[in-house]
Amino acid sequence: MAAATSITRFSRHIASIKQRLTPAAISVLQSRSLNLQEYQSKGLMRDHMVNVQPFEIASTPDEAIALAKKMNVDEFVIKAQILAGGRGKGHFTSGLKKGVHLTKDVEEIGNLASQMLGYRLITKQTPGEGVPVKKLMIAEALDISKETYFAIVMDRHYNGPVIVASPAGGVDIEEVAANSPELIYKVPIDIVDGINDQQALELAKNLKFSDSKVNEAAEQIKRLYNLFLSVDASQVEINPFGETTDGRVVCFDAKINFDDSAKYRQKDVFAMEDLSESDAREIAAAKSNLNYIGLDGNIACLVNGAGLAMATMDIVKLHGGEPANFLDVGGGVTEQQVYDAFNLVSSDKAVKSILVNIFGGIVNCATIANGITKAARGMNLNLPVIARLEGTNVDEARKILLESGLNITPADDFEDAAKKAVASIQ
Ligand code: GDP
Ligand code: MG
Repeated sequence: MAAATSITRFSRHIASIKQRLTPAAISVLQSRSLNLQEYQSKGLMRDHMVNVQPFEIASTPDEAIALAKKMNVDEFVIKAQILAGGRGKGHFTSGLKKGVHLTKDVEEIGNLASQMLGYRLITKQTPGEGVPVKKLMIAEALDISKETYFAIVMDRHYNGPVIVASPAGGVDIEEVAANSPELIYKVPIDIVDGINDQQALELAKNLKFSDSKVNEAAEQIKRLYNLFLSVDASQVEINPFGETTDGRVVCFDAKINFDDSAKYRQKDVFAMEDLSESDAREIAAAKSNLNYIGLDGNIACLVNGAGLAMATMDIVKLHGGEPANFLDVGGGVTEQQVYDAFNLVSSDKAVKSILVNIFGGIVNCATIANGITKAARGMNLNLPVIARLEGTNVDEARKILLESGLNITPADDFEDAAKKAVASIQ
């Protein structure tokens, strides 16, 4: 019963954290997987001979017009570049509706660009306040006759890549999954054998490409699979993957995520990382190798281990407090990281108290205690600090804190620490 309650609270925490975070920040919480902008993903696709529309990238309205004039196409599609999807149905803080626009008029591109660039775009997948738009894609608009959904994901259940595809593409795939699951095809791919011709052809047929186009669609599917493998993607999602009235098979949209463990061999890909939408505190945390997610409360939490960090947030809430962050300093934490962590949480103006909860296994509690006292002295910290340290070398750690003469309240256990942290701000 107790375990079930704590699991429920845990998932509620995750859900409430996710609601407020950008996809980039969510991935920090899960696995730090890299996410690229659409134009960057399409660049990789082009390199792998996957069909995408010709496109240019602009950062100002004038640049957008100038690039469009050189493109020599009948119609343009203008797309805000942000790391979240759902742009077509989103809206800007300028008042402009839709993050994807079609126009034949080059001057209209300038008009649209001036209502997109420098504003925030809000979609179903962004935080409520939206994310800033700094770049636009100007691409050749095509007449779409068929929109399908196509994705390849690394799937834990199948222990390998799985293709998820549906002839009902273009729209929210979550809705298709909920209302007509029979329209979703799942094809696990053997990582050693790769995708075979028959699998690709069958998928193209199930996606209902025209008879004369199934072979080309199958070829595109195979190339997408090769791309997935060669860039160490954790997910490739094309929605819509479709056909045009003049018989072209095209990937109209693209979202690729990458496995962070492959960073060492995908240097070019990881060099493209765009941090302009990330929380400045989260970027600083990542530099110090700390797992940090900013939240709205006023009790900062500094914990070792993601599970203990979640449980600490739970117990703070249980006693009527609001955590200001999730922060896992990790197992091999150094004095410098403790210092950086203190700097990070205390730079948040909302923070009124700092709760340290360390269970020293691999971590030496004295390292933490030295980090805390150095940080508190070095930055003239005048916030109350409540420290619960337990485990390896705890006696020395307690002595260091006690003899420091600083405003650090020791706590006997985890719950005591939470109660004291909540009391310290009242
Ligand atoms: P998302 O809303 O963030 O997923 O952005 P998309 O790139 O998928 O664009 C939204 C929608 O705009 C797509 O689902 C298409 O229906 C439409 N769209 C995108 N490119 C074109 C194009 O070249 N021509 C036409 N006619 N529609 C397009
Ligand atoms: Mg899309």
